[in-house]
Amino acid sequence: MDIKPFTIGMGDRFGHQGHAQLKAVTTANAEGIRVHPTWNKSNREHTIIGTKPDSLRAEADEAVKAAGWAEPYYVDADHINLTNVDGFLAASNFFTIDVADYSGKPADSASIDAFVAKHAGLTGSLVVPGIAEPIALDDKQLRAAAEKFLWAIQEAGRIYRHIEAAKGTCTFVTEVSVDETDRPQNPVELLLILAMIAGEKIPVQTIAPKFTGRFNKGVDYVGDIAQFEKEFDQDLAILTYAVRQFGLPETLKLSVHSGSDKFSLYPIIKKLIQKHGAGLHVKTAGTTWLEEVIGLAESGGDALQLAKDIYLQALPLFDDLVKPYAPVVDIEKAKLPTPEQISAWDSETYVATLRHNAEDPRYNLHFRQFIHVSFKIAAKMGTRYTDALKANAEVIGRNVTHNLLQRHIRPIFGA
Ligand SMILES: [Zn+2]
Repeated sequence: MDIKPFTIGMGDRFGHQGHAQLKAVTTANAEGIRVHPTWNKSNREHTIIGTKPDSLRAEADEAVKAAGWAEPYYVDADHINLTNVDGFLAASNFFTIDVADYSGKPADSASIDAFVAKHAGLTGSLVVPGIAEPIALDDKQLRAAAEKFLWAIQEAGRIYRHIEAAKGTCTFVTEVSVDETDRPQNPVELLLILAMIAGEKIPVQTIAPKFTGRFNKGVDYVGDIAQFEKEFDQDLAILTYAVRQFGLPETLKLSVHSGSDKFSLYPIIKKLIQKHGAGLHVKTAGTTWLEEVIGLAESGGDALQLAKDIYLQALPLFDDLVKPYAPVVDIEKAKLPTPEQISAWDSETYVATLRHNAEDPRYNLHFRQFIHVSFKIAAKMGTRYTDALKANAEVIGRNVTHNLLQRHIRPIFGA
């Protein structure tokens, strides 16, 4: 199964927005933006909410059928490993193999030696088309990369072969993610990781490195934009080179995780994928849940009260809610509204505080990140929450579609 060049990963924690999400994709296609949908949900999200992978498959199939979408679509088992992949085998046709936890665990010395010997041809002064300066690479760097990543990629190979044995060859898309490692990978490390992936014969079609800077959930990029641009440009050149050099699939492309709301990067990403004629996968997830809360707040009455109650119940559990997401949020508790303040908010104030419009002085990125990680509270509310989603489906759906189309798909993939 080949992946299409431009794909948008859409997460939907509560499984009610499949239609509204797909509408963003179908509208984009009607405008000539050839983007294909991927529904992604991680084991972590399934566990927190209490859903099963089959529910995401059912949601995607149903939305696709209702919209008459006749082109490929993907259901991504996001951030899986050998301990949890089995639950996703039937439902998914896209697997994001996450090996970040295994990085730093050294492989046996024989396989490290073999890797260094096999790729001796890369050492010296390596010329990669599209990268101005030749890359100076020596044995020491090869060995250091192998010591850090080879065992992790061998583990990715074991996971890949486990999926392949269950589903059959070429029946699914394989992504390898190393975005949740402790520090970013530079383009040279990306090249060496791709060499290791090829060595494991994993037909990788999307690769998610950890880019420089902070990719916090649901908010804009924080970091050195010029440095990001340089590295992203080189990463794209590296991918083209690795496809030729290591015989990886022609469809190989970058995957940007925590990709929602990185508005300051989108013009750069768009420019560079056009420059390289490259494909791209962008994962968004929690941005849709935030639009649900915005839609509830906008609806007023009981729905506004529900949106307030989520926050009021979440605040005393601040530490527990933030902890699983600590590497991907930066929340200053002192900048959050007090319970008294939020209790007094009207619809407009709530929406303006949460919606990602940096030009509105009321927008509060601490509040936005905290609501992002508070979906567990809504999950605990059970039918009170899901009934409110149904009762306010139109307002919520409008926000979900607008957010994906106007703030994400058009700026990233548009002409
Ligand atoms: Zn990720």
